[in-house]
Amino acid sequence: MDLNTEFSGRVAFVSGAGSGIGRATALMFAVRGATVACVDIAGDACAETVDMIEQAGGEASAIVADLSKPDTAEKAVVQALSTHGRIDHAFNNAGITGSHEDPFDLERVEKTIAVDLMGVIYCMKHQVAAMLEQGRGTIVNTASIAGISGSVGALDYTAAKHGVVGFSGAAARKYGGRGIRVNSVCPGVIRTGMTGEVEDDARQLKEIFSRLSPITGELGDAEDIAEAVLFLSSDRAKFIQGVALPIDGGFSI
Ligand code: NAD
Repeated sequence: MDLNTEFSGRVAFVSGAGSGIGRATALMFAVRGATVACVDIAGDACAETVDMIEQAGGEASAIVADLSKPDTAEKAVVQALSTHGRIDHAFNNAGITGSHEDPFDLERVEKTIAVDLMGVIYCMKHQVAAMLEQGRGTIVNTASIAGISGSVGALDYTAAKHGVVGFSGAAARKYGGRGIRVNSVCPGVIRTGMTGEVEDDARQLKEIFSRLSPITGELGDAEDIAEAVLFLSSDRAKFIQGVALPIDGGFSI
């Protein structure tokens, strides 16, 4: 199998494509042949990802959208469909960190749930409809090790990511018999803009995570997640349905 053409003729929808894991995955999809609808709330960053893809010889479009709102999420999916004709692979990955405030702030909790959980659900509503019409499709959602353990993340982030894992599994059961595969990925601590935000004032936290990564002893790279997303999206994973895959250097052991 030639991995460089594995996704030729396919269309991928990647959210959070302006940075980190989303950008790495958008690039990897494009390099392996897919046309990529890059979606992000940050317009310049999203356009930069499209430039990077085009410079690498790939095809992509930029869609600027706040996915925490149902209307704009719907418009983003509709725009991807009208620009590219179909969505074969969705990677719902846009996200923000949670709040470590004590006592926790309800407005902030609602925001985290809106972006990290509802954003995935809003997009899936319209992606699933399109894929049912197409008769096939794959969806990978970004959860976190905080989606399978209560001991690593902020309260709101943990709740949102558990929601992503649960919704993905239930959707796999509901739509698996109709040609759609749904899985989620659970990254450990990955070097991206998100961890950069906390690295300075939480150096200690980073050290603890590094120490607890028993296999590598290091943080992961965005490409480690991208590789797993592409595999789960590919026909090679045709029998994998409804899993929440930890990609964490062994952290969750
Ligand atoms: P990142 O900050 O580098 O990228 C997140 C992207 O999402 C940004 O480009 C941002 O503009 C976009 N985004 C944020 N809110 C949005 C909204 N409302 N609508 C559309 N786009 C929005 O972070 P990352 O580390 O690449 O995170 C990607 C995903 O991985 C997130 O869901 C995050 O929770 C998850 N994750 C990250 C880590 C890690 O250690 N980096 C670990 C576990 C899970």
